[in-house]
Amino acid sequence: MNPDLSGFQDSKCGPCQVRERDSSPQYWCMSCEEGLCEECYGHHKAIKLSRNHSVVPIETFETLRSFISSFQTECHIHDSPLELYCPSHETPCCAKCTAMNHARCLGITLFHTFVSDLKTSEKMVNLDKSIGITLENIDELIENRGNNLEQLEINSNNESKVSGIRKEIDEILNALEIKLLSKFQTSLENQKTEIQRVMSELKEKRKAIVDYRNNLTHLKLSGTDTQVFHGMKQIGDVILDESNALNSMLKTQAMKETDVEIEKKDTMKDIISGVLDVIVRKMDSKVILKEMKNETTCQIVKGLTNTKFSREASCI
Ligand SMILES: [Zn+2]
Ligand SMILES: [Zn+2]
Ligand SMILES: [Zn+2]
Ligand SMILES: [Zn+2]
Repeated sequence: MNPDLSGFQDSKCGPCQVRERDSSPQYWCMSCEEGLCEECYGHHKAIKLSRNHSVVPIETFETLRSFISSFQTECHIHDSPLELYCPSHETPCCAKCTAMNHARCLGITLFHTFVSDLKTSEKMVNLDKSIGITLENIDELIENRGNNLEQLEINSNNESKVSGIRKEIDEILNALEIKLLSKFQTSLENQKTEIQRVMSELKEKRKAIVDYRNNLTHLKLSGTDTQVFHGMKQIGDVILDESNALNSMLKTQAMKETDVEIEKKDTMKDIISGVLDVIVRKMDSKVILKEMKNETTCQIVKGLTNTKFSREASCI
């Protein structure tokens, strides 16, 4: 905190305070760094020595006060005013610092001489431009984010999209249902046909063997012994063959216990859930920030203040 501002903190007119009078200041003289009541302001303006001082209404000063108080106007090593300026280091410095640290620096000038034309300097013009460009950039970014927000609001009405997807899923499921039913029916028919085929094969075998049995019965009743011998031999061979054939038949697909059913895999729920999800998509910003050409603004401000505000405003 600049100690020169302590007078203001008492909220009293500086000249009045010296004369042990008590009046509140309406103005602030930037040059004298003290408050002025209405009456003293009149004198201040009239006197030749202070006629050209920068005097502002106290409200104006109020808004600038904390900013100005952050300026480093004294050397904190030597506690003396920064009254000289080193152009090589681009910094104001006190007499002792100048002797110790800037002995070889060229062009050391009085600080107030160096700053005398800053208000109208090219550097000030550039700083103004840079501030303008930075504000434009910020405005563009705000507008860009605002547009994005609007877009999100528009997209937030997703009911029609969801019902569209729902319809698509329904269509897929309907087609799947038809395909499934048809496949089921075909498989069922194929299996039935196979069973029927094997059944008629067995029935034919049965009929043939019944015929043999009838023949054998007749031979037993009225055939000759020779006929019985040949009949038994033939039928015995046939029965042996059939017995082997039945054993082989039992091992074929046609004899297996058959069932046709619709298979539902355990992963069905996972697969269906995995197909749909919500994602956040991020794409690079299309905003192109305007650039500032000069660095001189940065340098001049670095030399004059040590506040974060000034650096950010000009050196981005
Ligand atoms: Zn006064
Ligand atoms: Zn003054
Ligand atoms: Zn110093
Ligand atoms: Zn220097």
